[in-house]
Amino acid sequence: MTSPPVSVLVIEDEESFIQALSVGLGREGFEVVVARDGAEGLEMFEAANPDIVLLDLWLPRRSGLDVCRQIRERSRVPIIMVTAKSSETDTVVGLEVGADDYVTKPFRLSELVARMRAVLRRSARADDLTAADERIVIDNLELDRSRHEVYLDGAKILLPLKEFELLENLMSNAGRVVTRDSLIDKVWGRDYVGDTKTLDVHVKRLRAKVESDPSRPAKILTVRGVGYKFEPTGTAKRSTTTTTTTAANSTATNSAGAEQPRSDGPASTRMTG
Ligand code: CA
Repeated sequence: MTSPPVSVLVIEDEESFIQALSVGLGREGFEVVVARDGAEGLEMFEAANPDIVLLDLWLPRRSGLDVCRQIRERSRVPIIMVTAKSSETDTVVGLEVGADDYVTKPFRLSELVARMRAVLRRSARADDLTAADERIVIDNLELDRSRHEVYLDGAKILLPLKEFELLENLMSNAGRVVTRDSLIDKVWGRDYVGDTKTLDVHVKRLRAKVESDPSRPAKILTVRGVGYKFEPTGTAKRSTTTTTTTAANSTATNSAGAEQPRSDGPASTRMTG
């Protein structure tokens, strides 16, 4: 086992459920922490920082809905609401205040565990997407949106804001043509009235920084009369500059003079680390 156990905070006031869940979830490999009313639940949430919360709807001191709302104000932790049989409206409200899923009492442990694992998987995927969304890596070029940084072959390069935004627009549409109008709209704003040559000047400056041979661009391609396109190249370099980047299809496209592989972006956009 390399990963630490998943910790679950059980907020529940019925002793029979507490016992059954502690034993059952423990046996499934979860680390179980118990709070016996709503207020204690919120305290324990702060103290234990659980991976997932199992939240009974009917609780002394603070209602489950209240607890759910409070937790959601500060955390995206997966929450499974535990509701009584007849409380369909409560279930709906529970989901509205931010619960990820619910089980209805009485439930089978296997059903609960299946739901817990599903919600945990969804939440991990959402985290991955958020992280991936902030970084675009194509070939030897990496753009970090949140930090406003660009790396070429792992070395940071400095780009003025407009060049950064231009590159961001092109890279996030890798493999697709972005029209001149669209680029000007997004980078300079809809009310931009200057010379459209400005765009070409910025593209030229950008190429000087990210292309291995700016006179024969391989990344930022001109699509005559339409706009520009960021073209992922895999490892089929047109210049002799070495790169440590590898692509799954590199061996197939690495022969000299081969047609550059087409890509629709996401397939060749990957996260590292
Ligand atoms: Ca209860």
